Amino acid sequence: MGPLLNALVKLQSVENNLRAAKAKLARCRRTVILKENQLRTLQNALEAKKEEIQLTKIQADRLELELKSIEQTLAKYRAALNLAKSNKEYAAILSELNTTKADSSKTESQAIELMKIIDLDNAQCDGIKAQIEQEKTELNEIRKQTEEQAKKFEAEIAEIEQQWQAAAKDAPPEAVDTFKRVAETYDGEAIAEIEVHDERSGVYTCGGCFMSLTTETANTLLSHDEIIRCPSCTRILYLKDAEN
Ligand SMILES: [Zn+2]
Repeated sequence: MGPLLNALVKLQSVENNLRAAKAKLARCRRTVILKENQLRTLQNALEAKKEEIQLTKIQADRLELELKSIEQTLAKYRAALNLAKSNKEYAAILSELNTTKADSSKTESQAIELMKIIDLDNAQCDGIKAQIEQEKTELNEIRKQTEEQAKKFEAEIAEIEQQWQAAAKDAPPEAVDTFKRVAETYDGEAIAEIEVHDERSGVYTCGGCFMSLTTETANTLLSHDEIIRCPSCTRILYLKDAEN
């Protein structure tokens, strides 16, 4: 390998380190985001529960009003009962009174049911609130930890970026541009080693995409220090120097 390809191989190794350091930083930040999402889910659940309680309370209030009006009707019937002028009239009013009483106890038990539901929902709200408090404490702890870690990773990244700039100086700018473009396409993997399967019969493949390469490609790289790209994946190809 000549100086150009040597420089690009070195740049690739720094690029790999840089990507790894950036991935570590992203992972460390992701733990905070995940925790924040968990907290938000709980907060949404709490809001939903509160709304549910509100709706049940409206229903309960309506039943309460209904009960009051039933009470009034019952009082009316009781008064009428005393003023009944015949047995027939008395029996008719009594029958109405009993029907209304049955309605009343039905409505009453519905109201009791709703109060039970509200109590249960309130208990659930308290449970969610406790979970939220715990999540908040954990989130603060994780934030503190990741902030420290992130600072370390950021320093590491800055250092590797300097190494990258230094390594890039060893190759012409156009070559570095090509390297950067291919690196963006392949998640940092800009160059690929040519794999030699059988030198005599000339079986070569691209180490990036595993497609066959012509003997000519391999031979050109043996004699020229230039950028030759895989015709299939466009990665910059290089041949490792034969071991002496
Ligand atoms: Zn390829």
